[in-house]
Amino acid sequence: MTPSKQEASIGNSGGCFCGAIRFETLGEPLRVTICHCKWCQKRTGTAFGTEVVYNEDQISFLGEPTARYRHVSDESGRWLDVEFCGQCGTNLGFTLEAAPGIRTVPAGIFDDPDWIKADRYAFRHVYVRSRRDWSDLSSDVEVFEEHFRA
Ligand SMILES: [Zn+2]
Ligand SMILES: [Zn+2]
Repeated sequence: MTPSKQEASIGNSGGCFCGAIRFETLGEPLRVTICHCKWCQKRTGTAFGTEVVYNEDQISFLGEPTARYRHVSDESGRWLDVEFCGQCGTNLGFTLEAAPGIRTVPAGIFDDPDWIKADRYAFRHVYVRSRRDWSDLSSDVEVFEEHFRA
């Protein structure tokens, strides 16, 4: 059976905060990885990285070239190339030596990340050994739909 046109052409787009770099993805991602490792905490400045994982040939970047920083893991000795906008610093995902041909895009840089649904894709939480105990929404924390100063 031939997939319908809509299924065959699922694509999404996004970009950095300043607009210098845009990207387009074609087709479904392989999975979504939520990484609690200390490197992801450092590079995102927060509790974890949320990466939508694709084959490299599913993603096209447009506009200015991405800036790149190579991190070598002190544990495995393998590299990860993190990419970002050289103008506004937005995190644009990474490629890694351990997974040739794979590229991630952070969930938050899509124009409309609402298509990334927990019941639609496989979500994997990895490196939970370094998960911050304040990064989950347990029933005993205060939760606000908007800011508490609203
Ligand atoms: Zn930018
Ligand atoms: Zn990580």
